[in-house]
This record gives sequence, C-alpha cells and structure tokens, in this order.
Amino acid sequence: MTESTPWEDVRNYVDGEWRAPSGDDGRDVVDSASGEAVTHVGFSTDDDVDDAVAAGQAAFEEWRETPVEERIQPLFELKSLLEHHQDDLAETLVREHGKTFDEAKGELRRGIENVEVACGIPSMMQGGHLPNAAPDIDETAVRKPLGVFAAVTPFNFPGMIPLWFMPYAVATGNAFLLKPSEKTPVTAQRIVELAAEAGFPDGVVQLVNGSVDTVNAILGHDGIEGVSFVGSTPVAKHVYETAAANGKRVQAQGGAKNHVVVAESADLEFAAEQTVGSAFANTGQRCLANPVAVVDDAVYDEFVDRLVDIVADMTVGEGMADGVEMGPLVSDDHRETVEGYVEMGIDEGATLLYDGRDADVPEEGSFLGPTVFGDVDPDATVACDEIFGPVLALVRADDFDDAVSIVNRSEFGNAASLFTDRGADARRFRHEVEAGNLAVNAGTAAPMAFFHFGGWKDSFFGDLHAQGEDMIHFYTDAAVYIERWPDA
Ligand code: NAD
Repeated sequence: MTESTPWEDVRNYVDGEWRAPSGDDGRDVVDSASGEAVTHVGFSTDDDVDDAVAAGQAAFEEWRETPVEERIQPLFELKSLLEHHQDDLAETLVREHGKTFDEAKGELRRGIENVEVACGIPSMMQGGHLPNAAPDIDETAVRKPLGVFAAVTPFNFPGMIPLWFMPYAVATGNAFLLKPSEKTPVTAQRIVELAAEAGFPDGVVQLVNGSVDTVNAILGHDGIEGVSFVGSTPVAKHVYETAAANGKRVQAQGGAKNHVVVAESADLEFAAEQTVGSAFANTGQRCLANPVAVVDDAVYDEFVDRLVDIVADMTVGEGMADGVEMGPLVSDDHRETVEGYVEMGIDEGATLLYDGRDADVPEEGSFLGPTVFGDVDPDATVACDEIFGPVLALVRADDFDDAVSIVNRSEFGNAASLFTDRGADARRFRHEVEAGNLAVNAGTAAPMAFFHFGGWKDSFFGDLHAQGEDMIHFYTDAAVYIERWPDA
C-alpha cells in the first residue's frame, strides 16, 4: 500500500506520472495553527493543462468502451483505501486547513459516501426501452459519456468536494481532471494518489495544481466538455459565464449567507446548541454554516442567554488537540478580513455579545474566537455579506412571517433551518423559503450523497447540482435509438 508522503512539494498527476507544475509562480501551504509553511505548491501553465487534456482524451477512448461493471471496480477499491487511510488523511487535512480532527473525519466520510453512491452507476445510468413504440418500432433511451470533465474546488472542504464529482465522472465513463484550491492542495493530492493505487487507467483521474491562470486555461480549453466549480460567488459567476460562452456544460456553486429561524414554539436549548454548532463548525468556513439566527421576539432574550452560555464554553485550539471544538481560520489574511467585519458590526451599531478577539485562543496561528452580535439590523453588512468566519449575527423577528421575509431578502439561497414545534410553520417554511437545502429542527441542512446538493439564487449558477442523480445527467448525454426490424 502506498504510504503517505504529503509534505513534499505538491505535484501534478498527468498521464499516470507525478510531475512538478511547470509554471514559475506558486505559494506556500501554511499550517494555520502554527503559521508555518508545511509545503509548497507550484502553478500549472497552459501547456500542463494541454498535456492533461490530451492524456484524458486518449484515455477516454478506451475507458468509455470499458464495461461499466469493470469501471466501478476501482471505485470499490478507492472506497476501501479511503477508509483504510481515513485517519492519516484527516490528519493531513487538519494540518493544511486548520479544522478539528473530528470535522476532518466527518468531511471525509461524506466524500466516501459519494464513492459508494457512484458504485451504483450500473443502475443509475440505465435508460429506458419501449417495445412497439410505433408499428414495428422499438425505442431505447441511453446515456453516454462525453469526454474530459474538470472540477475546480475551494479551500474549505479539500477532502470532500473533489469527491462530489470525481466518482460520478469516471463511473459514467468520462476522464476527470481536478484543480484543487492552492491554499489546501495536499489532501486532494493524497486522494488522487489513492485513486491511482485503486487501479484507474492512466489519464482517467488527473490532477493539475494552480490558481487563476490555470482555471482560465481550463475554462478556455476546447478539449474539456464540462466544468464543475465550487467557490465564492464572484468567481462562480465568472466560471459559469466563461465556460458556458466556450460551449461547455457548467455547474458553479457559489457563496452563501444562511439563516436559522427560531420560532416561538422551538425547544430553545436544542435550538441554541444546534445554532452554535452550525455557526462555528469548521470555524464558520462552510457554505452550509448558519451565520444569521432570526429569532422570534417573544423568545429572543431567553434564546440569547442560552446561546451565549454555550459559546462562552467553547474550546478553541489546534485541530488535533483533545477537546478542541474550533480550530483556526485558514490564514492570517482571512483572519484580518473577518476581524474587519467585527469592526464593521460595531460601527453599524450591533451589540457585541461575545467578542472572539478577547477569547482564550492560542497566541500563534490564525485563531479568532467565536463572536456573537445581538440586535443586528437584518439589512446590516454583517447580516448580509458572506464573512466566512466565526461571526454569528442575531436578528429579532416580529413573528414567523417577518422571519421568512428576512430570510428571503438574502441575495444567496444555499440553505436555511427552522426550529419549531409546529408542523404548520415547518410546512410553510418548506414552501416559502427560497433556498436549495431546507432543514427543520436540524442546524445544518446537509443532504446525504444520494441526494443532490446545491443552492439557489447567487449561491448557484447552472442547472444540475453536485452529488447523486444530477451528476449522471451532468456527465452524460442522452440519445434515443429508434429501430424498425419488420419480420419481412
Ligand atoms: P475561491 O472562489 O477564492 O476559490 C475557489 C477556486 O477558484 C480555487 O480553486 C481558486 O484557485 C479558484 N479561483 C479563485 N479566484 C479565481 C479567479 N479570479 N478566476 C478563476 N479561478 C479562481 O473560494 P475559496 O475561498 O477557496 O472558498 C470559499 C468559498 O467557497 C466561499 O464563498 C464558500 O461559500 C464557497 N463554497 C461554496 C460551496 C457550495 O456548495 N455552494 C461549498 C464550499 C464552499
């Protein structure tokens, strides 16, 4: 079994070979708990992307003809390799990202779940057949793979997000090219190493590292059929527009600012615990975080007391340490941005109920404690912008109608959660709230891998979402065979 060597310089994997990216630029990958560089990633040139696409196209010719039952065997192997290496992958992830060990293992579990779902492709990509659709005519609908697909992924779930795409792309018969975040490229490299070990033929699963120029080389490349993107909204829009203008299929998931609604009838202790978990897991760096809690005025004060007590008990520290509930932010730059929002919240007149800047956190590294603002104007910047850090804004709502209208004013529509004891509220919430993932009495609206995952409004650009059945449609084109075989 290949042993992990994650801290050498990060490499590309092209046509079955590990190669250094050939560009002159690059950046250090930093352990944000210590501030120390742990490795370096070089950026790929247009030529590196050309080489990967050419190898992917060559591999596709055989791979598409490989019987589906054979195509899924390396996925079964990959599942068992990922499970075998789950702890060392999680440790790598903690080191390059900063999240806690439990969070890292949880994210990998969801990634593995996607591999498991894709092992069912022989059933999922079946078409339909209708004998005697017309006199002497039988018709058969089929789905066919298309060629080379790319995915461009963000820093915050470096283990899970590549696996939203890769297993489905290759199981349906395509070749797949990953461009991970340059901030956290090491876990992705390790997953591609395991994919190579699992037995995919050369060129079927490939990796190119890089930044903006590498992404633009992918978006402009004639040999790439489609692009999956996950990242911030401005870049998602750019990717969607550029890839679509270049004739590609594209699904581009963007940023978010999700709400949790606490109704008058909610179990307040449970709602407070879940809200804290949802706002501060992964140090608030989640597209499914709920950084705004909209609380019915009738229970606002009691809810706030309970919530602040929980926040005050949180342990912040290095992700591998026992008992740590929240790790550092991904970088010093990002911590400065988040602290800028804390200043802005104060300037906007919100009440600082718990100041993460004064929390008990390690001195080295990009740490910031959990921060809670109360009585936030629902239209204030801290209630509307995606901060992507441990900052929770509490907003008062006059009643349930007011709460729903505050949620729907957001430009984003990734997720929303409701805490209630009333089925009628839950029903209205599901009907009226404009978001792609809606939870009732759960803090985080995260669908399992056999359901699609994606947002609405400025949280998503495209048609078909990540995970599950949507991936089959994204990665294949449909054809219908119309056949007449008269017995003449
Ligand atoms: P980002 O947009 O900065 O980067 C994402 C990817 O795009 C990276 O691979 C990066 O190299 C590339 N990139 C960055 N700028 C680019 C540009 N100008 N042109 C072309 N490519 C570019 O995002 P991030 O900071 O890595 O991740 C955090 C963001 O991702 C947040 O906004 C978060 O909400 C979002 N996110 C969304 C989902 C979702 O499912 N909707 C999931 C996870 C993260």
